Amino acid sequence: MHENIEDLTHLQKLETSTVLQCLRSRYKQKQFYTWAGPTLVALNPLKDVPGLYSKRMMELFAHESFTYKTPHVFALGQRTLRHLQWGLGKTHQAIVVNGESGAGKTCNALYLLSFFAAMETNNNEVPNSDNIEVLLCRSNPLLEALGNAQTLRNENSSRFGKLIRLVYIGEGANTQLVSAHIETYLLESTRVARQAAGERNFHIFYQMLAGLPESTKAELDLLNVPKWSIASERDCNAMDEAHFHVTVAALEQLSLEDTTQQLWKLLAALLHLGNVEFVVNKEANSWTTDQQNHLESAARLLGLNSNELFQLFTVRHFQAGSKSPAVVRPCSSQNECATRRDTLIKLLYRMTFDTVLENINRKLQHAVDSTFTIPKYLCILDLYGFESFEYGNSLEQLCINYANERLQYYFTVNYLKEQQLHLANEGLTAIKLDENALDKQNLISFLDGPVSVFGVLNEECYLNRGCDDSQVCIRIQSSLNERTRGVKSMPPSPRMPRSSKIKAPPVEFAISHYAGLVSYSTVAMLDKNRDYIPTEMVSALSKSRNYFVKLLLGKDALIVNATHTMNGRRHTVLAKFKNSLDNLMRILNVCDVHYIRCIRPSLSAPYYTTSPSQRWDEDYVDAQLNACGVIDTIKVSSFGYPIRMSHEEFASRYKYLSTKRPKESIEAIEICREITESYVQLQNEIRVGKSQMYATEKGIELAERWKFRIR
Ligand code: ADP
Ligand code: MG
Repeated sequence: MHENIEDLTHLQKLETSTVLQCLRSRYKQKQFYTWAGPTLVALNPLKDVPGLYSKRMMELFAHESFTYKTPHVFALGQRTLRHLQWGLGKTHQAIVVNGESGAGKTCNALYLLSFFAAMETNNNEVPNSDNIEVLLCRSNPLLEALGNAQTLRNENSSRFGKLIRLVYIGEGANTQLVSAHIETYLLESTRVARQAAGERNFHIFYQMLAGLPESTKAELDLLNVPKWSIASERDCNAMDEAHFHVTVAALEQLSLEDTTQQLWKLLAALLHLGNVEFVVNKEANSWTTDQQNHLESAARLLGLNSNELFQLFTVRHFQAGSKSPAVVRPCSSQNECATRRDTLIKLLYRMTFDTVLENINRKLQHAVDSTFTIPKYLCILDLYGFESFEYGNSLEQLCINYANERLQYYFTVNYLKEQQLHLANEGLTAIKLDENALDKQNLISFLDGPVSVFGVLNEECYLNRGCDDSQVCIRIQSSLNERTRGVKSMPPSPRMPRSSKIKAPPVEFAISHYAGLVSYSTVAMLDKNRDYIPTEMVSALSKSRNYFVKLLLGKDALIVNATHTMNGRRHTVLAKFKNSLDNLMRILNVCDVHYIRCIRPSLSAPYYTTSPSQRWDEDYVDAQLNACGVIDTIKVSSFGYPIRMSHEEFASRYKYLSTKRPKESIEAIEICREITESYVQLQNEIRVGKSQMYATEKGIELAERWKFRIR
């Protein structure tokens, strides 16, 4: 008989096969959520499930006693909110949603957000359109239009990571959402200039091509163009027009109407720029284009002179020293011109994304008077999941996998190890952890330490000595030779051209990540890491007649990084990314962290053509469960008491439960013992450790309830 229980830690036999069996049988019964101790495992239903996230469901979960038994994303939301309100554990709370691409992270993060929004609306009775919760929900479609795209794995894949920080003030039932902030990580801006076969550019391009009225299109010179090279109109789908209206409505509701027209103008300019190709004029030693019309349109929309714009793509400026005048030279290849064109496209898109986000954040920000109250944060983290392609894993995958590696490390160290040590020290039952799992975590210093993959890639960018792709690869391999545990050299991939006599130089290195072995290609990695923006491009944009372009430019930190250098060194993509992750870790460190592990039951796509039985791929699910540490969590959590507090605090909170008269001389720990011993139902739920109290949430719920009854 299959065990079908709601918490995997209650399985009689705890092993991968029973966990898989349980999840599979629950999936078949349309039970998509399962606890793994305090962690929530979320199986992706792969299609809408009627009623699963209805208002009625929210109300059910908002009602306290329902929460513990039924695994659901709203239950986790309610638990987190209660930690925040009651001040259980740390002051700040965070929910980390992870899983691989298409596993359901963004959907779950969104349901959480709508749950927190609904809890506020209940409090406030009349929802006001200026309320943070309303604004937050409205901003989402806009961010998705600009930052999501259709990939081979997910039709609506987020191409950026995000941390939503909700700011609350007040205590208990009076806790109130007052402000919010959205932080984003590493927008995949390469996509705007080029997309892999079968994938699309960011949604916004198709939305505007499908939805803009003819008159606007005419103004933007978008009519009668046979082909856009960065976003083919043929790739528009049935939903793009409808989504266009949602995006426009979001812009209006966030009072960003001013931005709307500017946004279309700028995106249209990018479409035109993408169509500009380069033809060499050997006699004049210069470049021309056959797409003068697109060049003119782009220049007009960007408020630039078309000749000057063309020069940006086709002429390089060199500066020998800071005092000597710049030397100009035509670009040496078509490729070089195209790269410079793409640099401008990416730069403008990134700046647009950042500016829209900044506008959203300005709307969400309300000054919190912290003289009377300490703001409490509730963070939701939706970061891209672990990524590994058969070929061509590059800087983007390195960053993504590095981020996941750090989160996993955080989880393992802070959760598993901490649990184990603590419980053992406290004289409470604990189990032995798989030490190998922790050992592997040393990998992070292989990636970002002084002698590491990042180290080599950054140093070569700083030195700028023209190291080629294979030299970079050899340096990565050899400088890490001492530390062979994490990084191995790899033979060139089978797709590399290889002569039978000359051995092709290596351009791939492999890293054995916690979630599997990934082979990275060093082809163009240095350029991506350098992310060089020619200064002449920046100064040309600063002279634009279009105020929006100037606005974009004025704010963007990228520009500052491109033009200013720190200790003579430019910030590389990796250096900036490491920095933003260090910040993220600092935030998580002050939070109680709750986890949602999203699992995608199968890769088969499109899912609507497959039958339910085909939608469960056992090996695939198994790999994901291991990759996100669910199995380890279960082992430890079954001994876990997620709520901890001092003896003094427990004694003062629940003194009413004590049957004895309070006496000055009695130590807090004695009161704690007396309370837990006199209530049979509390005995397994609340335990007296040597240094503090350990409780399950159920235990606290019972104690809270009785406390009020007795009082
Ligand atoms: P991720 O952010 O992990 O890449 P998404 O959250 O975008 O994945 O989910 C991918 C797709 O899976 C969604 O577009 C949706 O079709 C489906 N999906 C995910 N979670 C759910 C859910 N809870 N209910 C219904 N469909 C879902
Ligand atoms: Mg996503």
